[in-house]
Amino acid sequence: MDKFTTQLVHLDRLVNQPPGGGVHSDSSNSVLFAYQQVEDLVEVFQGKQAGHVYSRSSSPGVAALQAMLTRLERVNGALVFSSGMAAISATLLSLLKTGDHVIASQFLFGNTRSLMDTLQDFGIEVSLVDVTDAKQVAAAARHNTRAVFSESIANPVTQVADLAGIGQLCADNNWLFLLDNTMTPINLFDAKSVQASLILCSLTKYLAGHGNVLGGAVLDTGLYNWQEYPNILPAYQVADVQQWGLTQIKKRGLRDMGGTLSADGAHRISVGLETLSLRMQRTCDNALALANWLSVHPKIARVYYPGLAEHPQHQRACQLFNGFGGMLSFDLLPEYDPLALLNDLKWVLCATHLGDTRTLGLPVAQTIFYENGASARAAMGISDNLIRLSVGIEDSQDLLDDFAQALEKI
Ligand SMILES: *Cc1c(COP(=O)(O)O)cnc(C)c1O
Repeated sequence: MDKFTTQLVHLDRLVNQPPGGGVHSDSSNSVLFAYQQVEDLVEVFQGKQAGHVYSRSSSPGVAALQAMLTRLERVNGALVFSSGMAAISATLLSLLKTGDHVIASQFLFGNTRSLMDTLQDFGIEVSLVDVTDAKQVAAAARHNTRAVFSESIANPVTQVADLAGIGQLCADNNWLFLLDNTMTPINLFDAKSVQASLILCSLTKYLAGHGNVLGGAVLDTGLYNWQEYPNILPAYQVADVQQWGLTQIKKRGLRDMGGTLSADGAHRISVGLETLSLRMQRTCDNALALANWLSVHPKIARVYYPGLAEHPQHQRACQLFNGFGGMLSFDLLPEYDPLALLNDLKWVLCATHLGDTRTLGLPVAQTIFYENGASARAAMGISDNLIRLSVGIEDSQDLLDDFAQALEKI
């Protein structure tokens, strides 16, 4: 098979065959699609003919990106949304109902965690567990458990979930394994290898990569037998059983909830995607260099990065991933002020985002986990001196020099 980067740069052209030799799919902004013969419109509505009817549900530019993701990840199908949270909320709200139970990671991305509270308000039971150990996930099982939701590498303290163990547990119980793979895109980790049912991802982060577009996706790996899932409505039990899940998410989660990606957004994401492997390689190299350097600095108490030998799941990360990702966090010694350090860094932007070409930093307790309060932060291992970095693709030495001068100053 062709190598990954070769595939990436030719993906749109080969998968979608844009007319006239174009290397990008045409992206039209048309909201409506008119048919010469009304019979054709009727057939498209009834799912007997492929086509677009209204761009909240599908349009050519969005369908082109979905086809690219489907080919790249070698999955059954993909749906894209206006943001990662739109993909996650649409998926959960269209597949779960009152009285169901979900087991979720206690280290979830903050907004997904907050969404779990909303689900509970709607009568969906949620257990938050330590996903670094599949036994803890198994211990949370109930008669009404439908799904396990985890991320590959957690934010900000970088715990690596027991993905293989959870995948097997889900397979044994016919539970959906919902895996948010935002932190470890396909070239670092193939979620099919741990039997994920649906892969969720924020396209905003590494896949698009340049901080200029929001997007999200849900991919069906084809590993889950939807006939085992009790919540698929009769109308969505289409001829191909493999499409039941995405059909319901498309109708209930995309059409009815309306978190649609724009044609322009789909185009920007597909252009960003061309350089995913180059950016990811450089990001991982920079993050490992920085983690190693910071871990022996006298003003730093501790560095959290799965690439470090002292990381509690380092061995697991070596087995699962082709690289340790671009996120690392560290605790300054208590006598130093994390805000002062961030102000003294000249290349590190103070911003809350991940997976950008630029290195970004933020004081965790004072920003993204401020709302949680001090006791919840303590329980999650988040100190007041914790800084999270999303490492970019700058020249490695510039980043090391920048940290050297800023740490010297404080
Ligand atoms: C950013 C992020 C999301 C949400 O994605 P948006 O595109 O910002 O809505 C979901 N999960 C993880 C792990 C993320 O880092």
